[in-house]
Amino acid sequence: MEIKEILIKHGFSFKKQFGQNFLTDENLLAAIVRDGGVDAETTVLEIGAGAGALTRALSKAAKKVVAMEIDRSLRPVLAETLSGCENVEVIFGDFLKTNLAALERELGRYRVVANLPYYVTTPVLMRFLEEAALCDGVTVMVQEEVAERFCAQAGTPAYGAVTAAIALKGEAVVTRKVPRTMFFPRPNVDSAVVRIDFCEGRIPVLSKAAYRAVVRCAFLSRRKTLENNLMNCFRLSRAQAGEVLCKAGIADMARGETLPPQTLARLADVLHGAGIV
Ligand code: SAM
Repeated sequence: MEIKEILIKHGFSFKKQFGQNFLTDENLLAAIVRDGGVDAETTVLEIGAGAGALTRALSKAAKKVVAMEIDRSLRPVLAETLSGCENVEVIFGDFLKTNLAALERELGRYRVVANLPYYVTTPVLMRFLEEAALCDGVTVMVQEEVAERFCAQAGTPAYGAVTAAIALKGEAVVTRKVPRTMFFPRPNVDSAVVRIDFCEGRIPVLSKAAYRAVVRCAFLSRRKTLENNLMNCFRLSRAQAGEVLCKAGIADMARGETLPPQTLARLADVLHGAGIV
């Protein structure tokens, strides 16, 4: 039976508030699994199993799949679509409230592959960037415009705090664009699959917390100079902010959004070394 028929059979009603736009195309699903670098050795964490279409495709290629789903009304649907998928475990709950460290103890090393609910794309990704210890990479379907932000170059309008946060751990690459017609119900935007392979220490910093604080500061007010943002964020005088910028080799009229992650890392090291953050 097709997934659409199974959903109808169980009287499932789509919940917009959970970002429920499902996939069914087998070729696309198999391509996403390939994009995610999943093989028989891979443990996969999927966020948002939905009706289980991607979960099933992942199950065929992976060693093990742990899929989270917030909507408990999908339980009977998933029981049917995933019947026979012995290597799949479904956990019902909100990923954002899950104890990630405990989940990682169960998973061991793993990769994330997911068609993410759009309303929580950034907070979900940030958990993997900032909290995860055993994650080797993330391959996620996101809105095309968000994919552009993930991959943006410094100095472009799409470059922002999330781009700089990603850069510390990996490089985001768009593996494919996916038109809105591939989803049901059909969303108002097109999507793209983005792959980020994690590489700890890709941009070395003395303190990740200091780097995060600098990133927040650099993009606090895009119109202001970095010097002004530094004064606001770290309660520095203009002279102190100027000195910090000079030590980091950054022009005093520079704006944060023009600086590549490596330069933000240098600034974070100077601030950390001076005991400011
Ligand atoms: N993987 C399925 C597919 O590709 O067809 C469904 C993808 S759909 C875009 C996103 C799914 O994430 C929905 O089923 C939604 O209920 C679920 N979801 C939304 N917020 C969630 C959260 N905080 N934690 C876990 N699942 C969530």
